[in-house]
Amino acid sequence: MPRLPHLNARLQGFGTTIFAEMSALAAKTGAINLGQGFPDTDGPAEVSAAAIEAIGRGENQYPPGPGTADLRHAIAEHQQRFWSMTVDADTEVLVTAGATEAIAATLLALCEVGDEVIVFDPTYDSYAASIAMAGAKIRPVLLSPDPETGRYGFDPAELRAAFSARTRLILLNTPHNPTGKVFTPGELELVAELCREHDVVAVTDEVYEHLVFEGAHLPLATLPGMAERTVTISSGGKTFSFTGWKIGWAVASPQLINAIRTAKQFLTFVNGAPFQPAIAVGLRLGDDYYDRFVADLRTKRDLLGSLLIDAGFTVLAPEGTYFTTVDISSMGESDGIGFCLGLPERAGVVAVPSQVFYQHPTAGRTMVRFCFAKRDEVLRAAGQRLIDAFAG
Ligand code: PMP
Ligand code: GLN
Repeated sequence: MPRLPHLNARLQGFGTTIFAEMSALAAKTGAINLGQGFPDTDGPAEVSAAAIEAIGRGENQYPPGPGTADLRHAIAEHQQRFWSMTVDADTEVLVTAGATEAIAATLLALCEVGDEVIVFDPTYDSYAASIAMAGAKIRPVLLSPDPETGRYGFDPAELRAAFSARTRLILLNTPHNPTGKVFTPGELELVAELCREHDVVAVTDEVYEHLVFEGAHLPLATLPGMAERTVTISSGGKTFSFTGWKIGWAVASPQLINAIRTAKQFLTFVNGAPFQPAIAVGLRLGDDYYDRFVADLRTKRDLLGSLLIDAGFTVLAPEGTYFTTVDISSMGESDGIGFCLGLPERAGVVAVPSQVFYQHPTAGRTMVRFCFAKRDEVLRAAGQRLIDAFAG
C-alpha cells in the first residue's frame, strides 16, 4: 500500500477499510452487496419506536458519561438472563459508541507502548488499527480450517508460545468474524488457563453473541477466575439490526471499567442519547424475539450456503455470525482480492476478500466472505447471479 502523506507511522498501511471500499464498489456498479456486514431490513418496531419517543421526549442532550442508568441496568439484566453473569450496573458497565469504541478505549487504556496483544488471526479489521494506535504490538495466533470438517481451530502450542512477559492482553472474538467460528469450551478453558498463569487480561468481543447456529455461546468471563480479568464487549448493532446506531458496551470489574472510562471519555465522551433507551427496550425483549432472530438467520445461512455450493464454491459453513466463507481455490482461483474486485463485473455481486483480515501473508488468500443478513429474495438473486456466472 502506498505511503499516505501526513499520516503517522503507526497508521501507515491501514488505508481505507475494506467495508467502505467494497460498499463503494457495490454503489458504483449496482452489484448486490454481500460485502459489508449489515442487515437490509430494520430491527424490531418497538425498539425504533422507543428511539423516536425518546427524541420526542427531549432526550437529545449529552447522556451521562457511563451511559444512562436504565441502559446500564438493562445490560446487567441481559448478562444475568442469558449468561448467568452477575454484574453491577453502576460500577461494572460502560456504554460506548459501538463495540468499536469499547475495543479502542480498552486498548488505549490498558496497553503501554510496546506491550503485546495476542489475537486470533484473522481478526476483525479494527483490532490491528486500534492496537497500532495504542502503540502496542499485535501477536497473531493462526486459525485454520480443518481440511475434513471446515471447522476453524488453532494449535494450542502456538497459543501457549504466544504468551510471554511482554503480553498485556488477549483480544478474542467469539462468534468470530470473518470465519464464523464459535470457540469451544475447551478452547476457552485453555485461554483462561493461560491468562491466569501469565496474569493477562482478556478482552472478548461478543457482538455476535445471539447469532450461534452450532454449539453455544460461552462468555470467557464466566470461567473460573476470569470475571475479574475479562472485559466483555458487545453492542446492539447486530442483535437488534440497527448497526448505524452505534450503542455498544463493556462489562468488567470496577477497576477495569474505571481505566477504560478514562480513555473513553476523551474519545467520544458520550453518544446516542435517544438510542440508549431504545437499546434498553431491545435488551428486555422476550425470548421469542431472540429465538426468532437466530432461527431466521440460520435459514438465511442455509439458503446462501446451498446457492454458493450450486455455484461451485467450497463452503465453510459458519457456526455463528452472519458471514459465510468460501474457498475459491476449488474454482481455480488463487487471489481473493483480485477475485472480489472483479466479482461485480463478472457476477453482479460484492463480497469481501478475507485476506485483508489476516496478519499471516498467505493463509487467507483464497478465502472470500459473503454476508447473509439480507432479505431472502436478495440472497436468491445474488445466488442465481453467481450460479449463472460460475456454473452456467
Ligand atoms: N466486532 C466485530 C467482530 C464486528 O463484526 C463488528 C462489526 N459490526 C464490530 C466489532 C463493530 O461493532 P459496532 O458497530 O458496534 O462498533
Ligand atoms: N462489522 C461489519 C463487517 O464485518 C462492518 C462494520 C464496518 O463497516 N466497519 O462487515
